[in-house]
Amino acid sequence: MRKNIVAGNWKMNKTLQEGIALAKELNEVLTADKPNCDVVICTPFIHLASVTPLVDPSLMGVGAENCADKAEGAYTGEVSAAMVASTGAKYVILGHSERRAYYGETVAILEEKVKLALANNLTPIFCIGEVLEEREAGKQNEVVAAQLASVFSLSPADFGKIVLAYEPVWAIGTGKTATPAQAQEIHAFIRSLVAGKYGKEIADNCSILYGGSCKPSNAKELFVNPDVDGGLIGGAALKAADFKGIIDAFK
Ligand code: PEP
Repeated sequence: MRKNIVAGNWKMNKTLQEGIALAKELNEVLTADKPNCDVVICTPFIHLASVTPLVDPSLMGVGAENCADKAEGAYTGEVSAAMVASTGAKYVILGHSERRAYYGETVAILEEKVKLALANNLTPIFCIGEVLEEREAGKQNEVVAAQLASVFSLSPADFGKIVLAYEPVWAIGTGKTATPAQAQEIHAFIRSLVAGKYGKEIADNCSILYGGSCKPSNAKELFVNPDVDGGLIGGAALKAADFKGIIDAFK
């Protein structure tokens, strides 16, 4: 069954104390008014072990924002998928455009990361999306198809475990959101690619989230589209009230 999901990406924000306070507040708010969708918070690595025991797993999952492309060993400063899983986290964002652009994450590196995440029972939230020049040149479909290639080496069973997030880079943190029609059009295209590779059943069950300046005021008009199964939320995930406002788009 396809799931509706609202996932927060805290990025490099919040000290440990601030992150704990936000996770506690979200847990309280969602305990008082239960969500109608799956909720995930993806936090900096150092928050994971403190945050996971604080949240009710029936209300909210916890995830990392990245993991290493190697299983273990002499990779100073890296954090493996096994380490992420050992904190109790269940998800990991992979392929975020900021990782691709600033840290040189290639299709081959991402393929390794996704495989290691799955091998450690983490659900990858795999991000794809075009930059502005590519959209203006009408190349968005070509770009997302090439990015999807790094997960198309997965077995059907493994592909069935991942969540996709379409995030037009021109909409991330810019205040410029894709229109509901733009989102629906490319989400339907992404689903058709999945169907072409893995068949209709796996495509129908695949959650495809929209990300890019999603906020309480525009979440509903985006999520109401048949191929938009929720959102990956950056800035608006940093305040419990805003994040809850987006979660409530499913009410
Ligand atoms: C993101 O970076 O995943 C994101 C969607 O950011 P924002 O909501 O701030 O645009």
